[in-house]
Amino acid sequence: MIIAERKPVAEILNMIEGASTVLVAGCATCVADCMAGGEREVGILASAMRIALVREGKAVEIIEVTVERQCEREFIERIRELVEKVDVVISTACGIGVQAMAERYRNKPIYPGVNTTFLGLREEEGLWTERCAACGDCTLHLTGGICPVARCSKSLLNGPCGGSREGKCEVSEEIACGWQLIIDRLIELGQLDRLEANIPPKNWATSRDGGPRKVIKKELRDEKRKQS
Ligand code: SF4
Ligand code: SF4
Repeated sequence: MIIAERKPVAEILNMIEGASTVLVAGCATCVADCMAGGEREVGILASAMRIALVREGKAVEIIEVTVERQCEREFIERIRELVEKVDVVISTACGIGVQAMAERYRNKPIYPGVNTTFLGLREEEGLWTERCAACGDCTLHLTGGICPVARCSKSLLNGPCGGSREGKCEVSEEIACGWQLIIDRLIELGQLDRLEANIPPKNWATSRDGGPRKVIKKELRDEKRKQS
């Protein structure tokens, strides 16, 4: 899922400077799972904003709403009435949701309430860790199902580097060496011989290096055209 963290209240208050009505709009999917921007977090943020604004002697109305998914137009269309009546929207969805809202409501400032951080997994209660960098050319079958792009600090496709010490990365003792994890997993799978094969350089054009990406499903588009 997409992992995010809420921005500091002071940063959000700076964004809404001058507004007299603000909609705090949450998203009930990824950012709710990672406890950054779902209904509960919208309530907490809105309360914190109200308290801070009262302390500053400012009269700002804060309205709360949460939609199922801010990255889908049909869901964000349902809150049109609320969006249209406020000066500013603080979206606690990921960066995709914020942009979907901005595209839908072109005359309305839509500002981010969270920092979209990575694609990750909840390892345990209160701990989310990165798993995928969305490189566009998945090679997990070569690396025991552990991603070298996201989990090696240097994104080495052939590792480990000389900085790996007792299973930890030289970047920080807090970080497990991604390549040590890969080796351990290949041993478990009886596939350690795979380490002998060089993983060829990736074509990074499938990643961000090729500019903004798109996926086109021609058959779906053709079907839609026929229906309309
Ligand atoms: S190889 Fe690429 S697509 Fe596969 S998990 Fe890693 S970053 Fe994600
Ligand atoms: S120590 Fe391991 S995780 Fe860190 S950069 Fe080297 S191979 Fe990657």
